[in-house]
Amino acid sequence: MTSMKDKQIRPGATIGILGGGQLGRMIALAGRAMGYRFVTMDPTEDAPCGQVADRQIVARYEDVDAAIQLAEVSDVISYEFENVDAQVAEVLESRSFVPQGSRLLRITQNRIYEKTAIRELGIPVAPFRVIGSLEELEAAVDELGLPAVMKTATGGYDGKGQWVLRKSEELGEAYETMVKAGTELIVEKFIPFQTELSVIAARSLSGELVTFPAAENIHRDNILHLSIVPARVSTDIQQKAEQIAREIAEKLDVVGLIAVEMFLAANGELYVNELAPRPHNSGHYTMDACVTSQFEQHVRAVCNLPLGSTQLLTPVVMVNILGEHLQPVLNRIDRLPRTAKLHLYGKHESKEKRKMGHLNVVAPSVEEALEQIDHLEIWKKVEV
Ligand code: AMP
Repeated sequence: MTSMKDKQIRPGATIGILGGGQLGRMIALAGRAMGYRFVTMDPTEDAPCGQVADRQIVARYEDVDAAIQLAEVSDVISYEFENVDAQVAEVLESRSFVPQGSRLLRITQNRIYEKTAIRELGIPVAPFRVIGSLEELEAAVDELGLPAVMKTATGGYDGKGQWVLRKSEELGEAYETMVKAGTELIVEKFIPFQTELSVIAARSLSGELVTFPAAENIHRDNILHLSIVPARVSTDIQQKAEQIAREIAEKLDVVGLIAVEMFLAANGELYVNELAPRPHNSGHYTMDACVTSQFEQHVRAVCNLPLGSTQLLTPVVMVNILGEHLQPVLNRIDRLPRTAKLHLYGKHESKEKRKMGHLNVVAPSVEEALEQIDHLEIWKKVEV
């Protein structure tokens, strides 16, 4: 009898994707090139992934009947975000093949479980406390010191659901505001980092494990702005970051991708900040700079094909195109550098701060790629 670890989903089969956003779109584009068919489920008609899939089931993510429909037409199911409804996950797992499983979803849906799981592996995270009242917040801040960062345990992304506490006078207002989110809260020590790094690890059902080169990430208003690869840190730090991602993928039994975001503190120590069990914005650079993109790798991992080489072929800088950048980019479409690869997500509505696309600029060095981006005068100059 073949064991689950040997199960392979071969080209020609149908991959179901829960979620129809840009990550699903780029998974489908990569997978279609490999001969797979795609069905996606998303509430927005003509969603970014729906536009490039064979079919879209238009339904809310919590719609159990729609999830059954998705399961019935799919040989394998994948998801492109972590806030998958527990009941839907259960239905999918009982009626279809979900190699990514739901254990990792439960961990990454909640910062408390996530940080506890990482700490239990012996990997540093910023010291944190769970808080249930203003008194507990005050006691935690006494211990951790200021500045500190208060975060919602669930539902936050792109800096939503967090508050940097700088003075003890603002604790009351911060608590009153954050408690309205109606989820558990944590407060953690502020890490005065030199650099933010992320590493994406891929692990297939059979246990094969690889990592992509570490990206150096620069955020603006808590939203990823640039990913710079190779990261401008020593090779020793790059290897340490990759090792941490390997360890997390191995020990948490990841199937598919896991993105590990880290802070590099002034003392050279790496702290893990966040995990995402899916392709990640900081891995978009792989599309034009690595032998295998993160999206192709995701398909390979969940279909249990051998993983592709993650070798970096060229220095690269990825810059995000948010709503406010879209028109300026389109106005310059005839004079983008020839080595800039434009990726747009097909979203119907462009809003400020909404991720509409990205540009991967390859060059002989990351400094030259950064100069080419500055030269476009679309994004405010980065002090680097
Ligand atoms: P998060 O929502 O946890 O991904 O945080 C978004 C961004 O806020 C991070 O990428 C950091 O730039 C910043 N940040 C979050 N937590 C901390 C921390 N403990 N210390 C310093 N900066 C932080």
